[in-house]
Amino acid sequence: MFRQLEKAGLADLHFAADPSTGLRAIIAIHSTVRGPAIGGCRFIAYDSDDDAITDAIRLARGMSYKAALADLPHGGGKAVVLKPQGDFDRTALMQSFGRFVDALGGRYITAMDSGTQVSDMDAIATQTQWVSCTSQAGDPSPYTAQGVFEGICAAVRHRLGRDRLTGVSVALQGLGHVGFALARQLHDAGAQLLVCDLDKGRVEQAVQAFGARSLAPDEIYAAPADVFCPCGLGAVINDDTLAQLNCSIVAGSANNQLAEARHGELLRERGILYAPDYLINAGGLIFVAMNHAGSPAHAIADKVHGIGTELQALFQQADREGLPTSLEADKRAEAIIARASSHAEHQHSAA
Ligand code: NAD
Repeated sequence: MFRQLEKAGLADLHFAADPSTGLRAIIAIHSTVRGPAIGGCRFIAYDSDDDAITDAIRLARGMSYKAALADLPHGGGKAVVLKPQGDFDRTALMQSFGRFVDALGGRYITAMDSGTQVSDMDAIATQTQWVSCTSQAGDPSPYTAQGVFEGICAAVRHRLGRDRLTGVSVALQGLGHVGFALARQLHDAGAQLLVCDLDKGRVEQAVQAFGARSLAPDEIYAAPADVFCPCGLGAVINDDTLAQLNCSIVAGSANNQLAEARHGELLRERGILYAPDYLINAGGLIFVAMNHAGSPAHAIADKVHGIGTELQALFQQADREGLPTSLEADKRAEAIIARASSHAEHQHSAA
């Protein structure tokens, strides 16, 4: 496990178990050199404890990079609460997780992620102040959707030379909190939607509301579309799906879309423009962090709107350097974090 930590450059990894509530949770803190680690809490079932640990580590690193590129005063962290089998008291479980977060004394601020909801954050907030996305604070998903929309517009402009989404086809995978709100925006902007979800009810809703064409989950990769937009879970760009993709752009909200770093290069070789996940989906984090810090709504909206401009600059730089966009984003984020680390070390040795 220590090799895994070192490889990911992780600062620390915390575990908690509370048999009285069934809590089994992991908090991965990637970095705090730019400020307290921030990132959502995932509440899903895992095939093994190792899978849960790997997920937490990978996601925490992505949050550090996301905070760095969005110029937020935070490092990255992520929590995973393993979903118990059988009956359990959800409020008691989340309160127990809240005590785990509180014990870290503010090194980690938690928020919503796949499987958690606002009522969970309210339960956590009874135990700790280091939580966002409560019913008082609000849901970050619409901000994530807005940022992804801006990113898709930037990618379409860059790759297809089109200023509008009218007639642009988007194959959208996952119609959850982000995907459904994004589908509405894309539809309103004139895009043609092809959609899939494991939940047939959501697909039916999108067909009714947006005139979307429904596809089976395994048909979405090969569907001919201008944009493939992954808004379900991660690792959807892999050896298997890359061979099937029939699009010019990959741009969506899912975290950790590339199964491995090399898949970024393979996308480039296939002439597919990739909008790096942690840049295009930063809208939710921008909302969570700025709202937690008391920033006004207009400042948050402006920054989310700016995701399109940030992506445009990254696409141009990657083109100039002949690099995959994923590598260009990693380089930028790592340079920002390295600068903060050396600044912190300098201050420490001067003290
Ligand atoms: P969600 O759980 O509300 O929705 C995910 C949807 O994807 C569900 O409807 C699920 O049925 C569907 N899905 C999962 N696997 C699928 C598959 N193989 N094929 C088709 N559909 C599938 O989650 P969300 O909050 O909408 O987030 C979506 C993604 O965006 C996640 O990867 C999440 O980590 C990421 N993300 C979300 C936010 C946010 O603000 N919610 C912020 C940043 C990143």
